Amino acid sequence: MTGYRRQLYRDDAVVLRVQKLGESDRIITLLTRRHGRLRAVARGVRRTTSKFGARLEPFGHVDVQLAGDPKGNTGSSLHSVSQVEGIDLYGKRFLGDYPRYTAASAIAETAERLTPVEREPSLRLFQLTLGALKSLARGEHATTLVLDAYLLRGMALAGWAPALTACAVCGTPGRHRAFSVPAGGAVCPDCRPPGAAHPAPATVELMSALTTGDWVLADATDTGVRRECSGLVAAHLQWHLERALRSLPLVDRGNPAPGGGAQDVSRERAE
Ligand SMILES: [Zn+2]
Repeated sequence: MTGYRRQLYRDDAVVLRVQKLGESDRIITLLTRRHGRLRAVARGVRRTTSKFGARLEPFGHVDVQLAGDPKGNTGSSLHSVSQVEGIDLYGKRFLGDYPRYTAASAIAETAERLTPVEREPSLRLFQLTLGALKSLARGEHATTLVLDAYLLRGMALAGWAPALTACAVCGTPGRHRAFSVPAGGAVCPDCRPPGAAHPAPATVELMSALTTGDWVLADATDTGVRRECSGLVAAHLQWHLERALRSLPLVDRGNPAPGGGAQDVSRERAE
């Protein structure tokens, strides 16, 4: 077999991003179940007869038929969408709901950043992303809890989850009171670097609960604990990403000022 052959293949996927390409075409960024993250051209989505348009909106779970080389060995990296069926178009449910829309945007952007290499399968990240959007759509838990659980578990998949049950530096087990993003999470008194934060014990418990899926504990927390948790999670995530996430500061967390959450955690608690 020589030369470039376009093959047709099917997969199900989450639509992470939709970008304009000329008047009527779109470039769709998909996180697929079996083929990792990839970008594909959808032609003619603006035409009124197109069935693509509504199905290829951000945050939808879709079944797609793609044309291109699924292994990516040959020249063009851009695939094209030849068919698409909606499985569950979650994006529709976030329209007009700013907190959920911005949380979904942060989830989609994070999924893209956690898959730097195209077409590298990551079934667990796919399942995590789909599960988070499904949970947001159902409104089972507070929006910020769903987002922070997603970010914590995504970081765990990437190998940089914050240490919560042992010192990030020396490994001494226990619930340590100090938390340092540069050190990697909770730190014992011996290892605590200058400038470490001292979050409420309930905040670190919430981070653990979100990581392990203890929703009974997470759902019972109050706003202050959730806000402090969000600040620590965001700071930890930003520390590990080369560029800051665009969508995360837009997430409506009920803060008086945008970005206030991350600053709260650097202040010493008066306890
Ligand atoms: Zn230590």
